[in-house]
Amino acid sequence: FDMFFLAFVERLFRPTFKKDDLVLGKKLGEGAFGVVYRASLAKKPSSKVPYQKEGDLVLKKATEYGAVEIWMNERVRRACANSCADFVHGFLENSSKKGAEYWLIWRYEGEATLYDLMQSKEFPYNVDIVGLDLIDRIKVETMMLREVQDLPRGLERENRIIQTIMRQLLFALDGLHSTGIVHRDFKPQNIIFSEGSRTFKIIDLGAAADLRVGINYIPKEFLLDPRYAAPEQYIMSTQTPSAPSAPVATALSPVLWQMNLPDRFDIYSAGLIFLQMAFSGLRSDSALIQFNRQLKRCDFDLNAWRKSIEPRASSDLRKGFELLDLDGGIGWELLTSMVRYKAGQRISAKGALAHPYFDREGLLVLSLMQ
Ligand code: ADP
Ligand code: MG
Repeated sequence: FDMFFLAFVERLFRPTFKKDDLVLGKKLGEGAFGVVYRASLAKKPSSKVPYQKEGDLVLKKATEYGAVEIWMNERVRRACANSCADFVHGFLENSSKKGAEYWLIWRYEGEATLYDLMQSKEFPYNVDIVGLDLIDRIKVETMMLREVQDLPRGLERENRIIQTIMRQLLFALDGLHSTGIVHRDFKPQNIIFSEGSRTFKIIDLGAAADLRVGINYIPKEFLLDPRYAAPEQYIMSTQTPSAPSAPVATALSPVLWQMNLPDRFDIYSAGLIFLQMAFSGLRSDSALIQFNRQLKRCDFDLNAWRKSIEPRASSDLRKGFELLDLDGGIGWELLTSMVRYKAGQRISAKGALAHPYFDREGLLVLSLMQ
């Protein structure tokens, strides 16, 4: 069977939702291109829909760009379902007063994004991956985390938790990238902690690009989040076709992928997230903006940045260096291989997962997670 046939069959059997099937709850977010609500299923849904538990859905009412986000979510669901929040359905809703809107429905994954968790003084101890309930799925990881639980509070334990989070983020990113999708807005606000699987999942594919089929649309007025964007932020947005439009398969895409390594855009962002996890003093928006300015002044050379600030570093910063210096500085080594000026010099998600920083748990864990 070919992909299109399978997609067609899947669509036939998938639940369909109508507007009246949903009862809206609390507003969870509002961006320039849509509003996100917690939602539940109406008592008497008009169509056959499978998710009955109350309050367990998320609804995004999106503008015309919602079409691309639906496309991305459907592709992810088929190709790398564990990377992102569980997508249920997307459809065009015409009856709204505001004109046509795209409605996207996901399963409600949990209340906290990585951003929320990182804002707490307790981070990373407030990340409940330690109680990991994955006995069947990931035995090795569970054992590893039991060990972590027994560690006293301190650098070693923090490092182990951050390591686990980073591995989950890179695993999810690798899934997206292997599917041919670049997220382009990878940041703590777009990473949700899934309470069911106790893993971090990626959300918000509104700015994502699908390079295999040439869908790559960012409206002109849309600027990528400058706090997490790699220096080449405009690369790939000028030379590929505009969407929304019918997907055009192009034999060129893999070549473009090779030439520009657009996946490394997300790696830079992931590196900044790693940095913020290690350095509590860099977790606020203003501190990150200031860091970005300093790094630019150092020509995006993290080692130069370290030299310039370490002698007069606050205790917060010193603790971050100490954490990354554990085990012979292997964490610092990984960080510097992610945050580099040239995309081609940054490590890939797959490469990062194989980095010695993660060695302690062994690569077995990764294969078990598949
Ligand atoms: P936007 O950034 O365009 O407003 P997002 O897709 O990032 O939209 O969603 C906004 C917020 O809604 C997220 O930051 C998160 O708090 C919440 N959210 C989104 N998807 C889910 C989900 N599947 N489960 C739980 N919360 C979600
Ligand atoms: Mg978002």
